[in-house]
Amino acid sequence: MDTGYHLMELPTKVLIGEGVISKLGDFIKDSAGDKKVVIASGSNTTTRVRKAVDSAIGAEPVWVEVAAADTDNVERVIRSASGSGCIIGVGGGKSVDVGKLAAFRMHLPFYSVPTSASHDGISSPFASLKGLDRPYSVMAKPPVGILADIEVIASAPKRLLASGCGDLVSKLTAVKDWQLAHRVNGEYYGSYSASLALMSANLVLERSRMLGKFGKESVRELVEALISTGVAAGIAGSSRPCSGSEHLFSHYLDLLAPDSGLHGEKCGIGTIMMAKLHGVDWRKVRSALKNVGAPVEASQIGVDDSKVVQSLVKASSIRPDRYTILSRKKLDKKSATALAKSTGVI
Ligand SMILES: [Zn+2]
Repeated sequence: MDTGYHLMELPTKVLIGEGVISKLGDFIKDSAGDKKVVIASGSNTTTRVRKAVDSAIGAEPVWVEVAAADTDNVERVIRSASGSGCIIGVGGGKSVDVGKLAAFRMHLPFYSVPTSASHDGISSPFASLKGLDRPYSVMAKPPVGILADIEVIASAPKRLLASGCGDLVSKLTAVKDWQLAHRVNGEYYGSYSASLALMSANLVLERSRMLGKFGKESVRELVEALISTGVAAGIAGSSRPCSGSEHLFSHYLDLLAPDSGLHGEKCGIGTIMMAKLHGVDWRKVRSALKNVGAPVEASQIGVDDSKVVQSLVKASSIRPDRYTILSRKKLDKKSATALAKSTGVI
């Protein structure tokens, strides 16, 4: 950013704790007023959560079930949301991303109510969707409010929570890439937001055994760390502190193997390899991911070796404006294969 200024957009309020879903009505009152409330929800949202949301809001909200994170579903939410006071995303990744982008396009306040903690989209100003002109996240606005019920999130499948740890650890190489782009290209770099993002990565790197138990205390820390990384992106005014070469790798795998692995799982595996390229302790990344039960080998998420290699070689091409270690190292098939093998990914 060479203009010398940037805008910081941050969530206004966060309510976190056990059972806080019952306070959702009060939480959104400023925005909703007497108007209708539209909820984008995932197909896995449990009846228990739906009932809790209904009784917390009182007036009957309009539920829109989101089957996929794509532009069609954004349109569906937009059609239901005319005349409403706010949009709420209740669920895991998809519904939050879809609700966020719909709210952004309609200039409505957006509230995020995550039912799992699988990635940092629950608080970030970005939405990741299919059907857009590019296979990576687009800038929207951060949620006005985030309501994180630890009881609900702690009962999510462990695989989702482990995936959240993968998205957290990825800030290690994202920040390294950002520093590199600053050195090489003179790109704007904010050490405060970088440190904030690194704190979240370090939670996983330093305390993976505790975190991996996924008791209520560790789930709370995981959620707070994910919220912080979204805030770091808000302070930076870009996704730089949260997304680097490991995310490009993950986005490329999304194209080659759209149904394999969760976002955070792919980013975690990418982080192991990008850490090695950066010359930082990749073994520590790998063992932390293992400790929380996240995959460290491509076969664990059903991706074959050739797709890993192809993603390593091609990843930087999907976003040429983003300078990362992959732009510098320019891997070919041979060096990419060697990297993936030496780190145990294939
Ligand atoms: Zn991510």
